[in-house]
Amino acid sequence: LTFLGIESSCDDTAAAVVRSDAASGKILSTVVQGQTALHADFGGVVPEIAARAHVERLDDCIREALQTAGVRLDELDGIAVTAGPGLIGGVLSGMMTAKALAAATGLPMVGVNHLAGHALTPRLTDGLDYPYLMLLVSGGHCQFLAVEGPQSFRRLGSTIDDAPGEAFDKIAKILGLPQPGGPHVERAAASGDARRFAFPRPLLDRAGCDLSFSGLKTAVLRARDALVAAQGGLTEQDRCDLCAGFQAAVADVLAEKTRRALAASPVTALAVAGGVAANSAILAKLETVSAQAGARFLAPPLPLCTDNAAMIAWAGIELFREGQTDGPELSARSRWPLDGSAAPLIGSGK
Ligand code: ATP
Ligand code: FE
Repeated sequence: LTFLGIESSCDDTAAAVVRSDAASGKILSTVVQGQTALHADFGGVVPEIAARAHVERLDDCIREALQTAGVRLDELDGIAVTAGPGLIGGVLSGMMTAKALAAATGLPMVGVNHLAGHALTPRLTDGLDYPYLMLLVSGGHCQFLAVEGPQSFRRLGSTIDDAPGEAFDKIAKILGLPQPGGPHVERAAASGDARRFAFPRPLLDRAGCDLSFSGLKTAVLRARDALVAAQGGLTEQDRCDLCAGFQAAVADVLAEKTRRALAASPVTALAVAGGVAANSAILAKLETVSAQAGARFLAPPLPLCTDNAAMIAWAGIELFREGQTDGPELSARSRWPLDGSAAPLIGSGK
């Protein structure tokens, strides 16, 4: 099967063409147009600006994806589109485009949950068999999912407050580092002493796999304020030490909760997705924990860990194989928890 995927749920406009073979998928093209510069002055993604940019760029992205893949519209078997969760204006832009294309070509359309796209990525890249454990760690999410089928996800735990990527961005902000903060914090941490500050490891004292990062964020803020009060500012070394202490705490929390999630589910593999999976200190810890649990460890290449349309095309193929197609009545959802699969796909969806 050959599917076009369309993704526009946050601040990346993306289109991709994916062809399935027996066990996995081949990405024929993947186009991502980011919007970082458009939102830079506002300290966050502005939904209205994002939606307008998606509307302006979707046609181009789709044309480029088809051209690069060398595939004509009439050679496709279907169109997969993110139907949520995300910023509703963005999701709608992609869905209206997909509906129009489906109506014009007669191709089947499949509405995909963005998080399912992330969660099924190791099947696209490596043909990983069900069931496996997925740790989704990004700027907006942090959750453990037992992935049992294309529509079968069991959430074993999730953050009760911030996502780790959000915390990385916040730490960068309070230390005067550029956004998005993750890579800058990681770089600074590499020259820092993780033991100088004793930051908390939130929720490790509580059973289960839920996580929390907001207390840790506050602890770093307090440590910074104390240094500023005492010395009138921060030295380069202070910054590096704060980053190293923070990153070590995040890595410890993720590692321990991953250990528990692996113990609690009958899986033989752990896969990660999300921008925070770019962090090599965190990856190294997760790899160790997997090895100790006798589980295979998979980290898809970074462009497939962050938002992209190849994962949407692939998830669409898997759902299509299970018999799912959606008509023009498919509606966009701003909220759509993965394990709430009892909720209907069609309807107001909140
Ligand atoms: P979502 O897709 O869940 O809605 P998002 O689009 O913000 O959220 P991603 O694009 O997957 O998420 O990831 C971006 C996040 O990853 C940012 O918060 C960024 O700081 C973080 N990040 C990127 N690189 C690193 C790194 N090396 N270390 C830690 N965090 C990182
Ligand atoms: Fe995402």
